[in-house]
Amino acid sequence: MSKRDLYEVLGLSRGASADEIKKAYRQLARQYHPDVNREDPDASEKFKEISEAYEILSDPQKRQAYDRFGHDAFDPTRGAGGFGGFDFDGGFGDIFDLIFGAGASRGRQRTGPQRGADREIRMEITFEDALFGVERDIQISRVEKCEPCKGTGAQEGSSINTCPTCKGSGQVRSAQSTPFGRFETVRTCNRCQGEGKIIEKPCTKCRGSGRVKQARTLNVRIPAGVDTGSRIRLQGEGEQGLRGGSPGDLYITLIVREHPRFKRDGTTLITQLKIDFVQAAMGDTIEIELPGGATHELNIPEGTQPGDVLTVRGKGVTHLHSQRQGDLKVIIQVSIPKKLSKRQREILSSFHEEDEKPNKRGIFEKFKDAMG
Ligand SMILES: [Zn+2]
Ligand SMILES: [Zn+2]
Repeated sequence: MSKRDLYEVLGLSRGASADEIKKAYRQLARQYHPDVNREDPDASEKFKEISEAYEILSDPQKRQAYDRFGHDAFDPTRGAGGFGGFDFDGGFGDIFDLIFGAGASRGRQRTGPQRGADREIRMEITFEDALFGVERDIQISRVEKCEPCKGTGAQEGSSINTCPTCKGSGQVRSAQSTPFGRFETVRTCNRCQGEGKIIEKPCTKCRGSGRVKQARTLNVRIPAGVDTGSRIRLQGEGEQGLRGGSPGDLYITLIVREHPRFKRDGTTLITQLKIDFVQAAMGDTIEIELPGGATHELNIPEGTQPGDVLTVRGKGVTHLHSQRQGDLKVIIQVSIPKKLSKRQREILSSFHEEDEKPNKRGIFEKFKDAMG
């Protein structure tokens, strides 16, 4: 694997001062720290690269070795006194301290209370449910405190002892001397898996973890006016916290199914209505069915044109927060008959003659008369 130039990694020139190196590292490490970049899968790799560059360039001896031999200075296979790998397992806490100040990582250590993780699930609802709101019971399973052992992980009457290997800290430090100085690495204790405790007889239900996966039924109230992408937060319904930490939240992201006849634009409900050319010309009242089964008597005014939009106030979607009702917009399509009967042809011919006369007053009245 070819490695990038360490100065290039930190965005510095070869002559950079110790202060400049420190400054560049702090800035980049803040930017790529895995704790602030959970979304970016490359951040962890980048952070490693930055930290490795800093590890070498911040040490005058190592920097000198790197300036002379390049990466070979740290390659154990080259026999030039390599440093070996750069250990990150369990070492993030120390690096975290370095970037954010001593003690910043205290809350992240495995011994303190830890808030449970948030969870997100997706839920599909119908167009009508989004319009009017709905209540749903959902089944989710989450990790909860094991009842038989009350979360301790130990069988009743069995003892829990402090791990002798790490003396309860959950971490093991080891020092390593190299030609370029002493290194200290911190890793998770293997014996107790970082818990700091050893259980004599583990609980049979949870196998000593103190936690079990349990199915739960939650009642979810979806308010009227939600749309695809709306999120409902159920506080405390995420994963359980560790060591007394509060539980995370559950987020339900909604996906609203499409409707065959209606569309939505925010709180505006949109539909199309096909009428014939006679209705368009003379006007009419048509009963239209709204989502959810209600009906509305739509008044089509005389002389309605194809593509005209008729607005019905207050028959749209309820605004999620203000409860204000949006409008219904009906886009009018006018159908022209493809075939006419003999009688229809005669009527339309006389309508046409009438229309050609210079005086157009009363055109609709005459048309109405002609249609009988
Ligand atoms: Zn241990
Ligand atoms: Zn248990």
